[in-house]
Amino acid sequence: METIANLSGLVDEVKGKLSQHLPMLTDVAADIHANPEIRFTEVHAAKRLSKELESRGFSVERGFAGLETAFVGRWATSDADDDSPTIAIFCEYDALEGIGHACGHNIIAACGLGAGLLVKDALEAAPGTPAKVVVVGSPGEEGAAGKVPMIAGGVLDDIDLALMVHPTGEDQVNVSTLARVALDVSFKGRASHAAAAPELGRNALDAATLALNAIGLLRQQIPDGVRIHTIITDGGQAPNIIPEHTGLRAFVRAGDSDYLLSDIVPRVKKCIEGAAIATDCEATVEENTPPYLSLVSNPVLVEIADEAFRLLGRTPGEGGPVGSTDMGNVSQQVPSIHPMICLSPGLTPHTREFASAAGGDAAAKTIADGAVILAATAMAAFREPEIVTAAKEAFEKD
Ligand SMILES: [Zn+2]
Ligand SMILES: [Zn+2]
Repeated sequence: METIANLSGLVDEVKGKLSQHLPMLTDVAADIHANPEIRFTEVHAAKRLSKELESRGFSVERGFAGLETAFVGRWATSDADDDSPTIAIFCEYDALEGIGHACGHNIIAACGLGAGLLVKDALEAAPGTPAKVVVVGSPGEEGAAGKVPMIAGGVLDDIDLALMVHPTGEDQVNVSTLARVALDVSFKGRASHAAAAPELGRNALDAATLALNAIGLLRQQIPDGVRIHTIITDGGQAPNIIPEHTGLRAFVRAGDSDYLLSDIVPRVKKCIEGAAIATDCEATVEENTPPYLSLVSNPVLVEIADEAFRLLGRTPGEGGPVGSTDMGNVSQQVPSIHPMICLSPGLTPHTREFASAAGGDAAAKTIADGAVILAATAMAAFREPEIVTAAKEAFEKD
């Protein structure tokens, strides 16, 4: 794929309209930052984003696939028809429990909103390019995989390409993420007096302890890059009672979704079952969240976005996998990108420092650049439809 001839002109073109929107975009990011809402409670954020889109000509479907805080904003050129290219730009806007916008999803929201508006501006200013743009409000990215029910509900049915951008401590375009399965484990034993009649008890904390040890030993026989991390959610009731019930929550991750689901997760489950057998307890394992699949960054879109980063004076690096995202599930359905954009060098998401940076002075520049990068990438594909074809060919090959 030849790099698009005039990306620099496109970047300037979309940047030209940015100043009209930037005060509103930074206000939206500050508003969402000041009102943090965790998974599926993002009423304030979804309402504000929907309102801003609607007042600028998008038609907005509020709620989607049974998710009250999801939305789908659509706009098309007057000459668009069923065959016109359709690009989705994803917003996220959920916060983390206890530490607010420590993943910077308030910035993602403003970037997605801004990109949608800049694309509309560019298409209106130079008519003759039939195109459809969809700004997707996807709630519950943190721990709930909100994009999964939206995909099942058909949000990607007419989408050719999907784009979003996420803030972090460095610029990175060719991003990979780990597939992730969340296991909720409960052990059931039998309570008894821990000193007077321990022989009558069956110790559910012993089961949890053995499971953690077995998982620890398993780590020698798994490939580099697999991650298994656990917490104890229920550690027993009192020291003088043989624990009757205990609980673990485990995240299991690997770069390859199929390998994770077919090999690693079953072996972790055997550690849990074995611990239950050894202690004469019962184990129940539930997967209450759909699996996050690994992110496939489309090489054609990566090339364009990478150039857009550089045109804005950013130098994307090659980092390792960056956690997990439900955009991975989107990327396994349609050609997608999920570049990381530097908010503050060296800062790591999910920290209090990152939460404060996401509401600080560096946010405006990150929002401006993020919106321009996504808009320029989308406009490149609208103006040169062979980019859409090439992106789809690369997707099929993968
Ligand atoms: Zn996060
Ligand atoms: Zn995030």
